[in-house]
Amino acid sequence: MKRKGGYMLELSESYTIAKQMKEVLKDKIVSEVIVLQSPHRFAWFWGEQDLFEEQLEGKQVTGANYYSGIIELELEDMRVVFADGAYPRYYDDPKKFPKKSQLFIRFDDDTAVVASVQMYGFMGVFEEGTCENEHYLSSKEKITPLMEAFTYEYFKQVYEQSKGKKVSAKAFLGTQQRFPGIGNGTLQDILYQAGLHPRCNMASLTEEEFYKLYTCTCEVVRQMCEEGGRDTEKDLLGNPGNYQTWLSKKTLWTPCTKCGYELRKASYLGGTIYFCEHCQRE
Ligand SMILES: [Zn+2]
Repeated sequence: MKRKGGYMLELSESYTIAKQMKEVLKDKIVSEVIVLQSPHRFAWFWGEQDLFEEQLEGKQVTGANYYSGIIELELEDMRVVFADGAYPRYYDDPKKFPKKSQLFIRFDDDTAVVASVQMYGFMGVFEEGTCENEHYLSSKEKITPLMEAFTYEYFKQVYEQSKGKKVSAKAFLGTQQRFPGIGNGTLQDILYQAGLHPRCNMASLTEEEFYKLYTCTCEVVRQMCEEGGRDTEKDLLGNPGNYQTWLSKKTLWTPCTKCGYELRKASYLGGTIYFCEHCQRE
């Protein structure tokens, strides 16, 4: 499925939104849950959607986590997860509650968290430890660039597993769940800083280039998180992130900040890629 048009939860958004949830939703008690207030062809649920309200009613928010690109809200022994285009948004005024949502969770102080799916998205409600969905489990287990365990050795090891196959730089970073949470948005800036074109064949990289790709992956992801997510995406409160993307629909046709050449775009591997023809080698 194409990922054009943005609005997909990646690591810097799940990190930012989980952090905001811990502050904004703390101690709130669920009073109502509505699933698929508006039907959506590409809204998928984990768990028994007919039971969501029963499972969550009266539960109190006790925390929030992020696993790669997945956001998980903790309500005592229950968990609510949001992934891909299922962006949770907080509303503190019932007059502003959206009428076409796919998951609506109201709290007893007349505030709500609402997910309206962009493109496609997963949501789930389940008791802690019972979700066996593969995407959830692998996202939870994987090492992310925010962790100390994300060493150069680890990065090399991930690459070794795909050796022998022809893998482009975009495919390496953004597919096969090698680095969950790094999607078509985040990888653009990593490759820009690393000086590699998304189509660049990974087998052609020198050791030096490969090491630079590793350091840029760590730095770009950390900076995106520290600055509250990307400026192309919105946070829990509906505000854009403070991280200014180097390469995105926002910077298309503007001069490259490194060389002044006009930034271009193309379609590649089911999504739009942005690049500087001069600064990123193919
Ligand atoms: Zn350039």
